Amino acid sequence: MKSLWNSREAKKCKDKLDVLVYRSRLIGQEAKLCVWGGGNTSTKCEESDILGRKHQILRVKGSGSDLKASERKHFTPIYLDRVLDALKVDKMTDEQMVAFIAQCQADSKAPRSSIEALLHAFVPYTDIDHSHADAILSLTNTKNNKAIAKKVYGNELIWVPYIKPGFDLAKKMYREFQKNPKAKGAILEKHGLITWANDGETSYKLMIEMVSRAEAYIQKAAKRKKWSRPVAKTLPKNLRAQFLEKMMPVIRKTVSAKEQAILFYSHPPAVMDFVNSELGAKVSQVGPATPDHMLRTKRTSLFVKGPKNILDLKEADLAKQIKAYAAAHKKYYQKHKQNGMYMLDPYPKVILVPGIGMITTGKDTKSAQIVAEIYEHSIDVMRSASTIDQYASLSEKLAFEMDYWDMELYKLRQAPPEKELSRKVGLLTGAARGIGKAIALKLAQQGAHVMVTDIDAKKVEQVAKEINKQIGAERVWGWALDVTNEKEVQACINRMVRFFGGLDFVVSNAGIAHVSRVDQLHLNDWNQSLSVNSTGHFLVSKAAVKVLRKQNLGGSIVFVASKNVLAPGKDFGAYSAAKAAQVQLGRILAIENGDAGIRVNLINPDGVFNDSGLWDGIRESRSKTWGIQPTQLETHYQKRNLMQTAILPEDVAESALFFVSNRSSKTTGCILTVDGGVQAAFPR
Ligand code: ZN
Repeated sequence: MKSLWNSREAKKCKDKLDVLVYRSRLIGQEAKLCVWGGGNTSTKCEESDILGRKHQILRVKGSGSDLKASERKHFTPIYLDRVLDALKVDKMTDEQMVAFIAQCQADSKAPRSSIEALLHAFVPYTDIDHSHADAILSLTNTKNNKAIAKKVYGNELIWVPYIKPGFDLAKKMYREFQKNPKAKGAILEKHGLITWANDGETSYKLMIEMVSRAEAYIQKAAKRKKWSRPVAKTLPKNLRAQFLEKMMPVIRKTVSAKEQAILFYSHPPAVMDFVNSELGAKVSQVGPATPDHMLRTKRTSLFVKGPKNILDLKEADLAKQIKAYAAAHKKYYQKHKQNGMYMLDPYPKVILVPGIGMITTGKDTKSAQIVAEIYEHSIDVMRSASTIDQYASLSEKLAFEMDYWDMELYKLRQAPPEKELSRKVGLLTGAARGIGKAIALKLAQQGAHVMVTDIDAKKVEQVAKEINKQIGAERVWGWALDVTNEKEVQACINRMVRFFGGLDFVVSNAGIAHVSRVDQLHLNDWNQSLSVNSTGHFLVSKAAVKVLRKQNLGGSIVFVASKNVLAPGKDFGAYSAAKAAQVQLGRILAIENGDAGIRVNLINPDGVFNDSGLWDGIRESRSKTWGIQPTQLETHYQKRNLMQTAILPEDVAESALFFVSNRSSKTTGCILTVDGGVQAAFPR
């Protein structure tokens, strides 16, 4: 591992806290040192209070923040003299410890300090770094860990047998330190590495040096021996796609029994080597690489057992294996639970499939990706530990203690509350402008994952970019789609299944308009209108319903129709007839799919002009129909409704949100008008 220390950058730091922020970011950006939210760092320095009195302050990472994005405010200030009084007592419960540290905080508004704060306080060096480095875990998660650590580090690092983080570990660390005050740091068994010094640069560089030594030891062993032999082969891309398209909805349905999940599929080389190996099935069931990983990945993954040709695996068999995993978790919970606990979601977060790869789950794509990223590090540890010795982990009892430890779960509770559509995935057509764009924004703002599509690829990709930027998260993806092309539509739905594990809603909005009297209407124009305005909705809903039914988690389909369905206007035959067919199709879909909890509803807007593509090329002809100037068209439409109001894309988006969300959970086959009140178009 290379040191990222840059003297020029470091010189810009104006105090010890700045140096702490600088080196914390260096540690945080090295994924082999710590994963999301893991690891912690501290410095001891002099700070003045409002009255100008000087105090010795421990600045230690607050719980819930991520080292790589460190800022000064993330490090909780604690009065050192006060917190060191904890050395005088022999026992402290976790709750007492948290309350005690809070009483020692120099700023009551600072975040709750890391659960390892006392350890940072007790070791009498000013700068301390703690990581859960992959290479260190590979040494300590072995059968002969103590002997191996001794071989690599001699007395330079103190060996601390496994104790749950908190008061007892801090106390134990302190006692061991007194026995070997010359040590440069410590190895916490099955947990991680600590290095210390009286300046930040040395502490950081010691961390890199110690990890590098472990890496060298592993590399040397790897030259002598392969960690495991392969028993399966990675399937070609098209066959993996076939497997995923068949199985992802089954997986999504089964793991969503308690909490709906979004899936994420990945297949980096190290993961493939692991899922295809003989040992993978065994070591993946031993236990976590470090408690820090377990918070996101659970104690074990599900390693799918299948026939020699994994493509022959039956859907029911896979569902059975997932359910068995959950049942085993329930048993594990029942066996170890204590008063006041409640069972976490028992379904797997990591599913490994020989020949295919890794499928992870989360409340959104981002969380599922984080689980995958963390498990890649778990895999790295399991492979390396198996190379140098035999992989070992915490006992089931000790793992449970951490798995259900409120102090750890606190980290997850720091996340902002979930949005209304946070676990939902949907397809939106005709999203490049106007109504479609407004719907995409509205749904994404509510947390939905939205695949926005349009025949205009460039524009729809731009829409996705804009919305993601606006909401500050990756929630919208833009793809080209011609809704009249059955192959393209099917490929789009398949891609969603592979990417998210399934889908929950469709907003079918793509449409075109054509103005002509029927006796002058060309067959081509008639056909084209039918093709986009009715066949397009048929193709999209046909492909989507198949997945929704297989997934069996309900669903919502929304058709953006038109006021013209109920109150057609002259010269608009091709459009109105096709739209009427669309509405009838929607009603049939509602009738056919109510049994599966799939709701199908329709929105009838009238004359939406803002940023709409529908009026391109028909403004002139439509104005002629009404005997007005093209510039008067907006006013004409506005005047014909009871409220004399303009209909905006956002108004239609509001209705789409209503139908997509559970706000309309008992409504199907319904037409909602968004027309300011056009009496002739009242649904009846
Ligand atoms: Zn730790």
